[in-house]
Amino acid sequence: MTDSQTPGPAPNPLAASLVILNRETVCKHLTMERCIPLMRQAAIDLSKGVMRLPLRSVVPLAGAGKFGIMPGALAEDGPFGAKLVAVYPQNFEYGLPSHQGVVALFDPESGAPICIAHAGEITRVRTAAASAVATDALARKDATHLALLGYGEQAAAHLDAVACVRKLEVVTVWGRSPERAKAFAQDAAARKGLRVEACATAAEAVAEADIVCTVTNARDPILKAAWAPRGVHVNAVGASTPDAAEIDNALVARGRLIVDHRESALRQGGEIQRAMAAGLVDDGCVVGELGEVLSGAIVGRTNRDEITVYKSLGNVSQDLTSVAWLYAAAIAQGFGSRVGF
Ligand code: NDP
Repeated sequence: MTDSQTPGPAPNPLAASLVILNRETVCKHLTMERCIPLMRQAAIDLSKGVMRLPLRSVVPLAGAGKFGIMPGALAEDGPFGAKLVAVYPQNFEYGLPSHQGVVALFDPESGAPICIAHAGEITRVRTAAASAVATDALARKDATHLALLGYGEQAAAHLDAVACVRKLEVVTVWGRSPERAKAFAQDAAARKGLRVEACATAAEAVAEADIVCTVTNARDPILKAAWAPRGVHVNAVGASTPDAAEIDNALVARGRLIVDHRESALRQGGEIQRAMAAGLVDDGCVVGELGEVLSGAIVGRTNRDEITVYKSLGNVSQDLTSVAWLYAAAIAQGFGSRVGF
């Protein structure tokens, strides 16, 4: 055998079986409290270039549906994989999650798939956990008032997540349907033991807020700079494709803009692209990535009165980090289903 034929390290024997983690299992083990530090580390690793992350591909489907393909690797020699996710905004009307799919994790030694996890549940938790990390880094320390624009799955998850990093006293919520906003407020108040009020307009909901999360399917802005109070921190989460914008051009221009991934935000972020097309900003509007704030490479909030904006498009480093942790826990603790593969 020549040197070039020398076999590499022995393949991981665990790679012979595939671990399946369904929605209930992901929900039980990937708690918000567990996911927040994972997303913190994922953001730092992403900004340091440890992770490999090509831009996502999106296939438009009939109606408003989209199919997203998000590949990546946690490190040059680390686990790799992809999220395959169908996004069906229309599902909200039927009480179904809008995100459906799988996250597949592969073994770096053998190249074999080792874990498949419920992408909808991973997305629900990791998105809000990443916003909690951003909120902790960028919102004022004494923030107590959260405003939610939207009352779907991400709104509930963001309430849970933000409550992990700030001592909330008041929550205001707005959405297109006053009845749904009221129902969300009642549920959330009972679930969290907080004062939660439904508001008639988005402007009213954010007027006295310290933290605002935009978590809707809106294609055009639902939050305007003119309504944003001094010193507010905004997590702009709902618009994750180039054809949607939840915050207006003026807010992109006025806020101190921190993004989850610079290249994705500049090339695929609808809000930033609209503000650039309007001639209000250029590439320089992105101050930096969340991971750079966390590592101390750049400053987050520079003063109490500044408006900070975290633009989240979501990325597969968050999904793969979550599933790699779940997989290790599943092997150690014996949960999940195993199939020969
Ligand atoms: P849901 O389907 O659970 O909720 C959607 C919400 O958007 C509802 O409150 C709905 O209420 C509202 N909505 C729909 N159309 C409009 C509109 N034109 N104006 C204002 N509100 C509207 O979705 P999720 O909570 O799971 O996700 C929310 C958004 O976040 C989606 O756009 C999703 O793609 C995005 N997302 C982003 C991620 C990221 O990483 N950045 C990850 C996961 C989700 P109603 O129809 O009654 O108005």
